Amino acid sequence: MKIGIVGLGLIGGSLGLDLRNQGIEVVGVSRRENTCNIALKNGVFDDASTEFAILKNTDLVFICTPIEVIFNTLQAIIPYLNNETIVTDVGSVKASIVKNCSLLWPNFVGGHPMAGKAKQGIEAAQVNLFKNAAYVLTPIKSTSSKAIKKVEKIALLLGSKIYNCSPEIHDQAVALISHLPVMISAALIDTCIKENDEKLLTLAKNLASSGFRDTSRVGGGNVELGLMMAKYNRQELLSSLSKYRQNLDDIITQIEQENWSELERILAATQKARPDFVITS
Ligand code: NAP
Repeated sequence: MKIGIVGLGLIGGSLGLDLRNQGIEVVGVSRRENTCNIALKNGVFDDASTEFAILKNTDLVFICTPIEVIFNTLQAIIPYLNNETIVTDVGSVKASIVKNCSLLWPNFVGGHPMAGKAKQGIEAAQVNLFKNAAYVLTPIKSTSSKAIKKVEKIALLLGSKIYNCSPEIHDQAVALISHLPVMISAALIDTCIKENDEKLLTLAKNLASSGFRDTSRVGGGNVELGLMMAKYNRQELLSSLSKYRQNLDDIITQIEQENWSELERILAATQKARPDFVITS
């Protein structure tokens, strides 16, 4: 099998490393020669180029460019693909991408590996990034089952857990657990840096520890990705933010009114619910 990856950053590079480790031939395409050189030096790909022609004879292509250029990337690579080549993407938002890309390429399967880290670019690529992480596939009525099975097979090789859902439900779910946390975390850091008292701010920076590290991580990450989440999942993100604002207002009210029993009830409920979302130690 020959796999192509377009967009050699954190996700594209990490896919290349894992798939090569599985003995699969992997070729990569970047806009920049320098990225290709780094990728080849780090053993991420068997071959890498700035030319789409390298994708000739690939069985499967992953588009790993930023969300806003995924459709344009598909348009650009089509002349180099066989009719049977399956194309999938890794974009963090699915509805518009899946709709437009499926019309353009019948063998398109929307996908989203739920793994990442604060750093970006080819140098941030790492092995086993997708191991034990969820990998969501978002087929629509017209998606061929053969293409879905093939992408599932590859995601299983990465050690991921596969989930299937519609692009719309995917976007609602990630608004809640991925895009909302980015905005909340950014607002947290923003609140701190807007502190006018220099002395207080310096002390706060020195005292910040594991709690701040956990809650600020996603707000201090990839700027472009956060912006794309907001632009391309705007409605769902606004809906989540509005529900969040209501809950925050409710907590403010309980504290203002010194309603400690109600605050305790809320905190006990959130403590009980957290393990349903993430494995806690
Ligand atoms: P990244 O590390 O910044 O990598 C994206 C790469 O795409 C860049 O290294 C860049 O490489 C290339 N690129 C940038 N702008 C481009 C353009 N206009 N046209 C063509 N290529 C361009 O970002 P990433 O985190 O891997 O994200 C890539 C995709 O994965 C996005 O669609 C994102 O939604 C999705 N995703 C991200 C995460 C995450 O947490 N990071 C998780 C799951 C899915 P060159 O400059 O060398 O061309």
